[in-house]
This record gives sequence, C-alpha cells and structure tokens, in this order.
Amino acid sequence: MLDILRRLVQAVTDAEDLDTALNIIVTRIKDTMQTGVCSVYLKDDDSGRWYLMATDGLNPDSVRVASLDSNEGLVGSVGARGELLNLDDAPNHPAFRYLQETGEEPFQSFLGVPIVHQRSTLGVMVVQQTTSRKFSGDEEALLVTVAAQLSALIAHAKVSGRLHLSTATGERPSDVRFSGVAGVSGVTIGKALVRKPPAILKRVKDERTDDAEGQLTEFQNALAEVKVELRRIGESLSEHLDRSETALFDTYLRMLEDHTLSGEVCQRIRGGETAPTALKHVVTDLVARFEAMDDAYLKERASDLMDLGRRILSKLLHESDDALVYTDDVILVAEDVTPVMLGEIDMRALNGIVSVKGSANSHAAILARGLGIPAVMGAVDLPLSDIAGAKLVVDGWRGEVVVEPSAHVLSEYEHVLSDAKALADDLQQVAAGPCKTADGHGVQLMLNSGPFGELTSQQMSWIDGVGLYRTEFAFLSRPRFPNEEEQCSEYRDELLAYAPMPVVMRTLDIGGDKSLPYFSIDEENPFLGWRGIRVTLDHPEIFLTQLRAMLRASLGLGNLRILLPMVTSVDELVSSKALIGRVIEELKAEGLGVDTPEIGVMIEVPSAVYMADELAKEADFLSVGSNDLTQYVLAVDRTNPRVADMFDSFNPAVLRALQQTSHAGQTAQIPVALCGEMAGDPMAAVLLVGMGFDELSMSASGLAKIKRVLALFSRDECQQLARRATEEMASGHEVMAMMANALLDKGQPLLVPPRWRHDGSVTT
Ligand code: PEP
Ligand code: MG
Repeated sequence: MLDILRRLVQAVTDAEDLDTALNIIVTRIKDTMQTGVCSVYLKDDDSGRWYLMATDGLNPDSVRVASLDSNEGLVGSVGARGELLNLDDAPNHPAFRYLQETGEEPFQSFLGVPIVHQRSTLGVMVVQQTTSRKFSGDEEALLVTVAAQLSALIAHAKVSGRLHLSTATGERPSDVRFSGVAGVSGVTIGKALVRKPPAILKRVKDERTDDAEGQLTEFQNALAEVKVELRRIGESLSEHLDRSETALFDTYLRMLEDHTLSGEVCQRIRGGETAPTALKHVVTDLVARFEAMDDAYLKERASDLMDLGRRILSKLLHESDDALVYTDDVILVAEDVTPVMLGEIDMRALNGIVSVKGSANSHAAILARGLGIPAVMGAVDLPLSDIAGAKLVVDGWRGEVVVEPSAHVLSEYEHVLSDAKALADDLQQVAAGPCKTADGHGVQLMLNSGPFGELTSQQMSWIDGVGLYRTEFAFLSRPRFPNEEEQCSEYRDELLAYAPMPVVMRTLDIGGDKSLPYFSIDEENPFLGWRGIRVTLDHPEIFLTQLRAMLRASLGLGNLRILLPMVTSVDELVSSKALIGRVIEELKAEGLGVDTPEIGVMIEVPSAVYMADELAKEADFLSVGSNDLTQYVLAVDRTNPRVADMFDSFNPAVLRALQQTSHAGQTAQIPVALCGEMAGDPMAAVLLVGMGFDELSMSASGLAKIKRVLALFSRDECQQLARRATEEMASGHEVMAMMANALLDKGQPLLVPPRWRHDGSVTT
C-alpha cells in the first residue's frame, strides 16, 4: 500500500492543475480497488455545495454540473458529519439522493470518506460498485489513508487552481489569502514583481565538445562576468546595510573561486563535456549533497549554489538580461528569493518580499530585516505564474499574503498602516529618561542588541543597558570558529558602546534552529537535542576561548554580565561557573586584573522553572527566554508554521511558569529579567511588571511602546492584572481580552493589536 500511495502522491504533486490531479486520483483508486466508480466531490466555498469534480465510472459530462447541498445525499452526509459511510444497499439509505445527470442508478455499494485538511472538510472521496457488498476494513483503511495523504495536496491545488481558473476568464478574484511564515514584521502593499530564476540547469542537454580549450575560455569568461555582477550588487546593497550583512556577497565570491566548483567543471570540460553540460553536472551534484544535509544552514547554502550555477549558465548561454521594469511599490516575489535578487532592485522601490521557499532564518529574510522590509516566507501555495503584476498585501506579522485585496480589505490594511504611522509619530513624544510605572516604580528597560543599526540618543536615554547580546552573530558571519582575538575585539566594541551600562553577553547558543555552517549538528529532534549550554560544556575548548575573550574584552570596563542559555539543571550551572572561575584564575595568573562578572541563568525550559529556586541560590540573576519557554511549556515548535497559531505566550500555563520564576528570584533576592519577544509587547509588559520582573529586554523597536505603556499603569494595577491572569483565567484568549480592555480604558487603542480593539473582543 505504501508503494501505491507514494506513486499516487508523486503523480498528484507533478500534476499541472487541480483537474489533472483529481483525474489521476480517481483513475488510480478505481484501478487499485477494482471498483466500478471512484469520484471526488469538493466543497464550493461560496455556496457550500458539494460539486462532483472528477469521476471514473460516472457520466463524465456531469463533472462540475452535478452538485448536492451541504447536507444532501450520501455525499452531503459524509461531508457534513466528517465521518465515513460504508453501505451495501445505498439506494435504500434514508439520505440517498438520486442524481440523474451522473447515471449512478445501478450502484448498490457505497464507500465515502471525508477529505479533511486543518479541521475543515474539503471534499468527499467515494467508491461505488454495482454489486451489493460491504467494503472490507482494508478497503476502508486504504481510502481513509489516501484521503488523509492527499488532503494537503488538494488544499494546495484548490487554492492555486481557484486563482488559475479565474485568471483564465480574465477576471481575478479578490482577497485570495495565502499563508506562509512571518519573515519580517510589518505590513505593506504593492505590486507583485515575480522574478524567475536565471537559466534552468536541468534543461541543459548532455553534449560533448572537441574544443575543450574554447569551452574552458567560455567558462572562465562567464565566471568572471558573474563575479563582476556580484561585486556590483554587493556594493550597491552596502549603501543600505552593515558590513556584517553584505559579507554574504564575499561568501558567494569565495564559492565561485572555490576549487570544488570551478576545478570540477574544468576537469569535466577537459574530459570532453561542453561547459554548460559540465556546469550542470557539477552544480546539481553539489546541490544534492547540500540538500541531503539535515542542517538548516547548509540547506540554505544549496539554494545559494543553485542560484550561482544558474547565473553562470545564463552567461554561458548568452541569455540577455531582461532589463527589470518595475513600479515604485515593488513586492519581490519568487520561488526562492535570493540575496542577489534583492540587490538587483532599487531599495527605494522595494516595499516587501514574498518567497515560496525559505523561513525567517533565510538569508533573504535576514537582509530584509536589516532593511526594515516586511517579508512573508514559505508561502508554499502561492501560484507564481498567476500573480505577476497583481496587487498584494504582505502581512509580515501574521505571515499572510492577500492577492488582489478588495476595497474593504485594503481599507482595513490602510487603517493598520496609518495606525502604525500614527503610533510611530506619537511615540516620538515619549520623553527622555528612565522607565517608570505611573506611581514611580522603576523598571529596567534593556536592549536586545544586534547587528542592525544604532540607537538614537533619545533611545539611549531610555535604556539601562543591554539585556541580551547574542554572541552567535560573531560565529555566524565566519566560515570557521572565530579565534579569541576576533571574539575579544567584537565583544569589546559592544561593551564599550554601552559602558558604563551593563551588557549581558550570552554564551554561544547553537543547536535547535541555529547552526553554524562549519559545525553541523545532525539530529532527528534538534530542539530536544544538543543545544546551548549542552554543546559548550561538551566542548570546553570552544567555551573557554569564548569566556577568555569576554573577560579580556571587559578589562577596565567592569560592565560584563555572562548569561548561560538552555540550562536544564543545577549541575550545568555549577559546571559552567567552575569553568568561568578557571578562566578568571588563568587570566589573573597572566597578570590581567579581570573582575568577576555576574553570572545569570536563562530560564527557557520547564525543568529550569521548577528548579528556579535552586538555580537562584547559585546564580546572580535569572533571565527568562520566553521564546523558548513558550515553545517547551506548550510543546509547540517555534519554527513550524502548522502550529504557529498555538504559539501563545499569553497562555496562562506560560504565565504561571513566569510567575513561579519571578517568585524564585524574589525569594533569593536576585534580579529577574525577561529577554524574549514578550518583553517588547505592551500587553505582556504590564503583566510582567505585575509579576515582579525587574528588567525587560527587547529589540530597539519595542522600547518606546513599553516606556509609554508602563507609565500608564501603577504597580498595583499591574499586580492586579497579573493576579487575575495567572489565577482566574483559563486561556490566552481571555488574558489578551482583559489586557486589551485595560489598554483601551487607558485611552491607548493604538497599543492594542487591531483585532482586539473593540471592547477587547476579536473583530477580524
Ligand atoms: C528566547 O528563547 O526567548 C531567547 C531570548 O533566546 P533565542 O530567541 O535566541 O532562543
Ligand atoms: Mg532561547
């Protein structure tokens, strides 16, 4: 059965459109089950009726004609109840309804199963037979398995097909929504510029040559042209981005210079292959090797390599570069948006990005974040061929694209945009100085610093230091582990930039979704695997080098705090402290007067919450990583779009874990901070202060909002709200509604997410 399924899924995946896919399904199932009929009915979203969309065995003219009301007939009954129906005497079933146009009269046996995708019934798959018999348990199981396997494919084909059918009639439907992953937050509206990748390597025919020298020269020339192009694009992007971000283009140039690629191509040309043929084989082989790796970062390299290969090929084939013609409100759309594609467009014209492949960690998304351009990644259902020139709303908060928004949707989004602008203008008025509640209780406002831009002097006046410096940046931007000197110089820059304010440096936190190109961690279940402190404790040589670099960087400044990620036990803290102590002794022995820094523990996993009181006895401060804590408390993969709706930091289970952590810190009389995304959310910040958190650390974009919102609530009010959330509420929804109302009562609708603005109840 597995084999049948696998071949069926492959055939449906390769099908060009919905009709072809459905026809393949019904023919194969009818043959496999040796029945008289196999049909698929799909629900029409507008009328709610079940339309016969494909059949092998019924009158083919009734396809798209025969339909049943939502509850009508055996099909309606299967669809409405969402349960299978297996009958040996179908015509005598009370729900039986005779559909004349299908000519189905002689069929006695009926087996119908619902096709369900993400809780909603998309259609019904039916097999019928003239003789009277009950279908066997095995046959039921086969049809249920096929329907379950195919539901996602049908959902995909249905969305794409809907758009396709309508464009064929020259009319575009409005408000067609496609989900992806939130790549870069923000909303934008513009026109789709669909970029196709340059020349397709797969299409190159295998050809041989007698003129190896000539082909070698052609290849070297093509390579040189691509290098010039990349340098030009890299330079033009560097006007808008930091050096660390455009370093990527140096990596591309190195990939082109690398002997593996050009050396292997030249060798094959000398062996008699033409340059395009040799290039095709070498690049596809390298790409396959990268793709086979489990490591997310290395997989991304496969797409870079393919892009480079195509670029060289288009030079070899002397394809003319179509001059890009675009408007000044471009949404760049492509199967796989690459950094090079980004660099080809004038930044002033680029409003947003939509990529069918990729995630928030893709290079294009990282660059877009640096540029402040909203992006939706992984929009897998987006039918690229149909949307060129279409108007798009890119909602980088929800990870959603709306194609051809109606006037109504457009005005909603225009409201969102103008509200965002009004809020930004309003926040300009936030006064300089430290952050306090309405009754003067001080809250330490800290920055999650990154490689993107500097703070304004006004923002500088609000912060009390850096609450999270993710040292992974120093490791990610290189092709190998950075040495002690390299790390020391980067850390010193950071410590100097904020001195005398404290800077919390987190030790290397790799594993999970963060991997280094040169240190692959290949695991079935990486979020429950070798992550954070587990890796560095197992590799003291890496850990000790980093600690030496940090401590040396802090010489004479005294503002370093060290934070340990993904701690799950007191033992890990004790072992880490021992290594830190060893480095301090070593440095002292070398004659360096280093201070002993404060050492903190990240509370990111349930075991750390339960053991927070014990950890607090050994640590100088606690800092909650609410992104991971939410993931582990709710068992929701933070990178999986399928469960993104369930990732809810307002869930009372998460809030109770936070409350317990804060309590442990207070009992031990050490500061408790929170440095996940929650800290920059106004509704969450009020609750956190109410729970007793002393420090909130967030990215620069959250600072003004949090300073504003905390100034509106007294500490007592924050405590009341936190108590109700943790003791009286059963869902994140209830907590959000309460907080929305609290902010509306304070006259702050712009600080409430749009869908909660009316009386705290959801409006869209
Ligand atoms: C967190 O988990 O909340 C956190 C701050 O760390 P990161 O997002 O880097 O895992
Ligand atoms: Mg974390």
